[in-house]
Order: sequence, then C-alpha cells, then structure tokens
Amino acid sequence: MRLFEGTQWDVPPRCDRCEELESDCECPPLPKPANIVDPAKQKLKIQVERRKRGKVVTVIRGVADDDARAKLLTDLKNVVGSGGTIREDTLEIQGDHVDTISQTLAQRGYQIR
Ligand SMILES: [Zn+2]
Repeated sequence: MRLFEGTQWDVPPRCDRCEELESDCECPPLPKPANIVDPAKQKLKIQVERRKRGKVVTVIRGVADDDARAKLLTDLKNVVGSGGTIREDTLEIQGDHVDTISQTLAQRGYQIR
C-alpha cells in the first residue's frame, strides 16, 4: 500500500521515462546496470600454470564481475603483448607474465594475494 493511498494526496506511480502511469507504461526494460565491484575489495590470485603440450599461461582468479573481466583481458593482452582468454571466472594470458600482470593490477587498485 502506498503512502496516502486512497486519499486526495495519493499519486499513482508514474514511469520516469515516458511519464505514463506505470500500469500503462510500455517502455522496454532498462539494461542491467554495469556491475562494477570496487577493485580494492577484490583479492586476486595470479599464478603460472602449465597446460598441455608445454604451454604456459598466467591465470588470474578472483575478478568479481564479467564486465571487469572482459575489460581486463583486453588491457592485459595489450600490456604484455600476448593472447589470452576468459575461462569461466578466470582470465588466462599466454606465457609467464606474473610480474607484469601483478604490477598492472596492483596499480589499478586490486589486491594481489
Ligand atoms: Zn515508461
């Protein structure tokens, strides 16, 4: 029940985009706001792992949200000049770049374990 419902002060809720009554509103749903988690609240674990056929990758675990992961992947690939990929909730950069990646992420305010 709304405040003042049924009284002369009762104002039915209106859509703040089209200003129609909410019950009449046909606006498409808003896109989900980007879910950016404060880097300082994220503890990342960065380590080198060996994969099949002697391939070495630097794996970054603990990035909390999808948007940040996608952006970091692009940035880190540029920084170290290697390829990389997102595998579920981890980032993988080809080669051993633990030092460079740790520095880069620390500069952005992430906590590195
Ligand atoms: Zn609307």
